[in-house]
Amino acid sequence: MPPTPRSHIAPRTAVFNESVIREMTRLAMIHGAINLAQGYPDFPAPDFIKQAAIDAINADINQYAITWGSSRLRRAIAEKTRRFYGLDLDPDREITVTCGATEAMMAAMLAVVEEDDEVIVFEPFYENYVPDAAMSGAKLVFVTLRAPNFTFDPAELRAAFSSRTKAIIVNTPNNPSGKVFTRAELAEIGALCNEFDCLCITDEIYEHILYDHHEHVPMATLPGMYGRTVTISGLSKTFSVTGWRLGYILAPPDLSNAIRKVHDFLTVGAPAPLQEAAAVAMEQADSYYPELRGMYDAKRRQLLGALKESGFDCHQPEGAYYIMAGFADLGFDGDDNAFARHLIENVGVAAVPGSSFYRGIEGSRFVRFTFSKSQETLAEAAGRLARM
Ligand code: GLN
Repeated sequence: MPPTPRSHIAPRTAVFNESVIREMTRLAMIHGAINLAQGYPDFPAPDFIKQAAIDAINADINQYAITWGSSRLRRAIAEKTRRFYGLDLDPDREITVTCGATEAMMAAMLAVVEEDDEVIVFEPFYENYVPDAAMSGAKLVFVTLRAPNFTFDPAELRAAFSSRTKAIIVNTPNNPSGKVFTRAELAEIGALCNEFDCLCITDEIYEHILYDHHEHVPMATLPGMYGRTVTISGLSKTFSVTGWRLGYILAPPDLSNAIRKVHDFLTVGAPAPLQEAAAVAMEQADSYYPELRGMYDAKRRQLLGALKESGFDCHQPEGAYYIMAGFADLGFDGDDNAFARHLIENVGVAAVPGSSFYRGIEGSRFVRFTFSKSQETLAEAAGRLARM
């Protein structure tokens, strides 16, 4: 008898699937639907950053940068972090440039998590955290942010912490809910990190996309938290360059050292000329941030209005560029996958099924729309939704 063929696939890849967000993008392309699924701008990046990249290539900055990031970019990040948040970081020991926040999160998890360590994550969660946990060996423990305001129950949060907890992942401003964690909420999370001696890994990629009176509070600025916080951010969302793959990590020297080793062998480093352009942008862009905020606020209002008019029940985002929209009044019996398919195939607008941000059925009440698109794209989507 021939031996049973063995599987050549590692079990760690079996516990997660391909990105649903990017699958929706592919379906949108096949059906000619407007892509309000994947969160990336369909409008140009600012001229100042594009020109800086062209100049950098022409200036022959085309070979590997230093693995941790070019010296100029790490200095620009340190300066900006000091100006905005009052944190005084050593660019040589506490800042690492990565290929997007996606690599930053994976490198951070691989550097700190041991097999079967527990990592707490709020749900709804950005879909990447599941594969990040699977590849690093973490066991995820979920704490639910409850709609409509996506607040957590302090008792439930406390109950999630134990001696097995290695870290908690916080994403503020939050994808997909649009929640911006308040200082009081962050202080509560920080106090538990101190009590249980664990780390906080914060994904702050939407730090400059905020609405109304909401302000971004970096976890690392809370009393006693710098030494146990890994802060992740990047250029993609702020400068509309998601395809450049530029992220960065702020962490105390011991953590940065471990993370840098992982990063070195994952990717060597981020693209050198684009790092140069990022440095130029961060050195001069302080007047740009309020413009960005105003631009996204107008888009938020445009899409919120359109969705409400078409019968969706929307949570008004406080930050980031997504709207979680309930579709109970539109039929489909709470089947978010069927509804998202219907939207793409028959309405011509793509969204992400809410269940990709939850482990249970709670997410199936929602689909997520992004408004990181031009006014024209949003207007066309509004027209199609209105005809639904
Ligand atoms: N962060 C974006 C989103 O949530 C893009 C996801 C991706 O494809 N990396 O839509």
